[in-house]
Amino acid sequence: MLAGMGVSVSMLASGSRGNCGVIASSTTKILVDAGISCRETFRRMRSLGEDPHSLSAMVITHEHCDHIYGLATLAKKLRIPVFMTGATYQMWQRAMRDEQGIKPRLEKFERFESGHGFQVGDIAVKPFTIPHDAADPVGFTFRSEGIKVGFATDLGYVPVSVRDHLRGCDVLIMESNHDLEMLRVGPYPWSVKQRVMSRVGHLSNVALADFFTSDYDNSATFVVLAHLSEQNNHPEIARREAEKALATRGGLFCNRVVLASQTEALEPIRL
Ligand SMILES: [Zn+2]
Ligand SMILES: [Zn+2]
Repeated sequence: MLAGMGVSVSMLASGSRGNCGVIASSTTKILVDAGISCRETFRRMRSLGEDPHSLSAMVITHEHCDHIYGLATLAKKLRIPVFMTGATYQMWQRAMRDEQGIKPRLEKFERFESGHGFQVGDIAVKPFTIPHDAADPVGFTFRSEGIKVGFATDLGYVPVSVRDHLRGCDVLIMESNHDLEMLRVGPYPWSVKQRVMSRVGHLSNVALADFFTSDYDNSATFVVLAHLSEQNNHPEIARREAEKALATRGGLFCNRVVLASQTEALEPIRL
């Protein structure tokens, strides 16, 4: 019998200007969010030696532009199933209405409900609710070939339910959005600062560090810091905070910290 090719995680883009990743097993490839243009998604996949037409499905976390910008074109070009909640689909349709108010339809829309798992090829997908100011936002875990990948960006804090879903992950992709001080003194209007900092906003470096020191089970071989703010964070600050927190639990030896980038695809993480 041939050995499996294993599971891989490729972060194509991450941040407030667009989010997109690929979770792959030896037989199945899932695009997680479609927040950059179709052309750029294709370009970044090809830069990693991946054929975009080998994608099996897309899963969408929520309807904010930085997660769905390329969705309509990608769905049209690839003609693969697109999984999202009913509420997210409605919000996407509403945002995409044309001048006559006619809503677009996805040819292969697949509805899921948060908390209810579904299967795409040999990858088991489990969506779970995250606290964020969208209609029905979710994070995901993906399981295949004995490997578990956890994906949680765009969340105001880490509730107990999310902590439970993220137990036992071999790769953990977590939001490390902003440095509180940089946000506080930064250029955003106060209303936006309040939104980002709120319980349904974005996870700060220190909130993520708090998760690592108190509730994280140290299971991941790779920790990916994602959705970093370009205005209100610095990659080295985010890395330092995360590594410091992981070190307090002796976890830095088993968790390799990787930073996802807005501008280029990361080398795939393979397990
Ligand atoms: Zn969002
Ligand atoms: Zn976002």
